[in-house]
Amino acid sequence: MPAELTFTGSAKKADIMLNGTYLKKWRKARHLSARELGIALGYRGREYIKKLEGGYFPITPRFAARFETFKNQTQAREYRERKIETQYPLPPRIKILARPKRCAICREWFIFRNASDRVCTNRKCRRTYRARHDQVKR
Ligand SMILES: [Zn+2]
Repeated sequence: MPAELTFTGSAKKADIMLNGTYLKKWRKARHLSARELGIALGYRGREYIKKLEGGYFPITPRFAARFETFKNQTQAREYRERKIETQYPLPPRIKILARPKRCAICREWFIFRNASDRVCTNRKCRRTYRARHDQVKR
């Protein structure tokens, strides 16, 4: 398991911009409801979060600071709990140049062999995906 994780490239810069769209994307990626996020940030419920996400209210510096703290705590926990499975032995230091993607069927995260892959190597996933894809074609 990696002791240290460093981000390079543009992915990190995108994280710095806080707007409604980013807020919603970040929240959805963690399966948090607007209510849960609101409460975690010290607000009463979902309304304020929904208004920020929809762009009806501006993001205040106070909110941005609270969100930043919560985001850092959450992501620090995510990094601690991170698990990497690999089919190959990993060197002590490695750079990943491909973007992780979710399998279209099981929704697990992968770095696929080919950039155009949409499903993992699991037979069930492949079969389900093929069945759906064939249906669309007909
Ligand atoms: Zn899958």
